[in-house]
Amino acid sequence: MSYSLATASYIGATILFILCLGGLSNQETARRGNLYGMIGMAIAVVATIFGPYVAGFGGVVWVIFAMLIGASVGLYAARKVQMTQMPELVALMHSLVGLAAMLVGFATYVDPIAASHLGGAEKTIHEIEIYVGILIGAVTFSGSVIAFGKLSGKISGNPLLLPGRHWINLIGLLVVIFFGRQFLHADTTGEGMAYLIVMTIIALAFGVHMVMAIGGADMPVVVSMLNSYSGWAAAATGFMLSNDLLIVTGALVGSSGAILSYIMCEAMNRHFISVIAGGFGTTSGAAAAGGAQPAGEVVPILAPETAELLRDAKNVIIIPGYGMAVAQAQHTVYEITRFLRDKGVNVRFGIHPVAGRMPGHMNVLLAEAKVPYDIVLEMDELNDDFPKTDVAMVIGANDIVNPGAQDDPSSPIAGMPVLEAWKATTSIVMKRSMASGYAGVDNPLFYKENNRMLFGDAKKMLDEVLAALKA
Ligand code: NDP
Repeated sequence: MSYSLATASYIGATILFILCLGGLSNQETARRGNLYGMIGMAIAVVATIFGPYVAGFGGVVWVIFAMLIGASVGLYAARKVQMTQMPELVALMHSLVGLAAMLVGFATYVDPIAASHLGGAEKTIHEIEIYVGILIGAVTFSGSVIAFGKLSGKISGNPLLLPGRHWINLIGLLVVIFFGRQFLHADTTGEGMAYLIVMTIIALAFGVHMVMAIGGADMPVVVSMLNSYSGWAAAATGFMLSNDLLIVTGALVGSSGAILSYIMCEAMNRHFISVIAGGFGTTSGAAAAGGAQPAGEVVPILAPETAELLRDAKNVIIIPGYGMAVAQAQHTVYEITRFLRDKGVNVRFGIHPVAGRMPGHMNVLLAEAKVPYDIVLEMDELNDDFPKTDVAMVIGANDIVNPGAQDDPSSPIAGMPVLEAWKATTSIVMKRSMASGYAGVDNPLFYKENNRMLFGDAKKMLDEVLAALKA
């Protein structure tokens, strides 16, 4: 493939990626957006392999060999992963982007051909690309591995707040800048390599420290922020390899991830800088103290009584959370919704921006179950409607309906907007036990007079409710 055809293909792929992002901004166009993305990526891969970027037939064979290994691992992981493990898989994939950026950086630095024709300012720019690329890659890699550990429960979700942690970060930053200067003035490759290795170790430690310090309810921002970092790591790799498409694609991912992080911070009433600095937003609340202590009496309810309340209701709001994903209850939820709507009940869904373990987690599940988009509403769109609602049915959600976020300034989720389910005539919380949610705080909603607890696996209980409705 000629250079100009490869460039034209890259421009085409870039346009498709932009259309993809545009499509993904709306549930109704998301499927089309995905299709644009897939076509764009196919064009990009073909143009890269058969374009002027890969050296000779031998190079093509190596690339295809590597792709086959990567594709097999990816296919296996994608087929095997449970929907509830998706956020962990995404975190793991971000870590691979970071690792790739690090490896490309080191390989480019020791490649005798890469910089042989460069001199003066060009050489300096090339070395800055390498230094910054490895730096971003290392932070992304170690931060994403820790995020993977936290999301999968392998590492405690509680924040690790080292004394003087902000000073540690600041000193790390200053040392990285100092070694960056030394690196640019290094006389030999060996000396430069030593600076690179020291900086990489500091960057890896920073990534670990940054994500370990984040707990409570701030993890969603970290997930989208690491997504953004992985984009910048890819863009840095693009600079090192002089690949325009990788630069553009990385910048698209990096900036859209940054915008998403900002939107999530706004939705959670958190300051962006506080979250990324780590630990600022977290206090020594219940989560840090190692879990919630249940306080008060709850009123249990059974499936037939739940069905009765739903049958008598005119307005119902369903609030799905992480437990619905665990139980894979979305299809039964849809069956119940359809049944009630056929009987004239106004059923709507209230989606909290951080429900589940991944941005958009609940929307994906409900779309999979074919719940109509027009009854799936954002928190802000229906929070004022709870006083006019007969039944608020909370399915496997906890933190996102915790009134303590409004009433208790010492709570780790204080200030986070929540769905005000307790304002409905009756709220029903469906979960297996009195265990706390991700943030590790007790939920005063459970003890309210108008609240009922339907204990059990969400799928099993909803099947029983559906059977009782149909009986
Ligand atoms: P929570 O984690 O607060 O609560 C989920 C509840 O589901 C638990 O209390 C659990 O109780 C229940 N549950 C688990 N399995 C089942 C089951 N099989 N059947 C019925 N219930 C079940 O989830 P929310 O969605 O309310 O809130 C999300 C939390 O996750 C927030 O704190 C958010 O900050 C955090 N987070 C969100 C991310 C995002 O991007 N969306 C990323 C990372 C973290 P029990 O064990 O008693 O059944």
